[in-house]
Amino acid sequence: MMAQIDGHTILIGLMATPIRHSMSPTMHNNAFAKLGLNYAYLAFEVGNDRLEKAIEAIRILDMRGSNISMPNKQKVIPYLDQLDKSAQLCDAVNTIVNDDGKLTGYTTDGIGFMKSLTDEGLDIRGKKMTLVGAGGAGTPIAIQAALDGVKEIALFNRDDSQWAQAEKNVKTINQETDCHATLHHLENQTELKEAIAASDIYVDATGCGMKPLEDVAVVNDPSWFHQDMIVFDTVYAPRETKLMRIAKQGVVKHVFNGLGMMLEQGAAAFKLWTGKDMPVAYIRQLLF
Ligand code: NAD
Repeated sequence: MMAQIDGHTILIGLMATPIRHSMSPTMHNNAFAKLGLNYAYLAFEVGNDRLEKAIEAIRILDMRGSNISMPNKQKVIPYLDQLDKSAQLCDAVNTIVNDDGKLTGYTTDGIGFMKSLTDEGLDIRGKKMTLVGAGGAGTPIAIQAALDGVKEIALFNRDDSQWAQAEKNVKTINQETDCHATLHHLENQTELKEAIAASDIYVDATGCGMKPLEDVAVVNDPSWFHQDMIVFDTVYAPRETKLMRIAKQGVVKHVFNGLGMMLEQGAAAFKLWTGKDMPVAYIRQLLF
């Protein structure tokens, strides 16, 4: 079902490269049509080299906004007029809203993560989280969880190019929020095991479990998890990762993939552009 495009249709973009695989155009256009909103969402193959002109086009064409994905999430910041708090602390933007030529950058991935949990009736405010990964997914998850009232975050990262970002995330959280964050080397398995045992939620934001790492999981022993905790894998293709199978063996009650987060990050952007709630249940049923 697609809405009729006419002279009043409002354009929203997605600027990234590569981008042709993205599900966002299908998700948003079906949601606009379902609600009878006269918007159209199109993907544009834009890398760092043409980004400045593409952002200027948002103003010139009076577009309502855009999603921003790799490799533009940080590079876009100098071309915007202001950032919301979460985008500022993440130093990354995935959504732009154009209010009469004034462009505001947001990051909705962390909002999507938190909302996907409340959709399941789960509240992690005041609780302890163990999180692995500090990249495009791990950073907004950590920052939003801290902003929303998670009490403690034990952040683990391996000794790779993302370690500096992990250090930055921990520093930002401790300086800017009431959450207490600590940083640990993923290679220290004893610390990882102890942190998980003391946590209410374990989040994997590493990409382990999806191609080409479908046979890899950061935690391989089901006994490391306890029954009442949440195990959350940001991967959504495949729907069930090795980590999720291990957690289920360990009789963990609440085991999730990243599909709810993906849908809810889109829903948060949809709300910012249109002021309306995305029909998430309808989109989930339609696309997945
Ligand atoms: P990224 O490359 O920016 O960061 C990857 C992180 O994982 C880094 O911290 C890195 O140190 C760590 N890492 C990579 N390989 C590892 C390994 N073999 N063992 C341990 N740690 C490893 O990637 P990203 O953009 O953060 O994406 C990570 C995952 O999150 C991907 O699976 C992606 O599909 C998923 N994701 C999901 C959503 C969603 O809405 N559900 C949104 C964004 C990303």
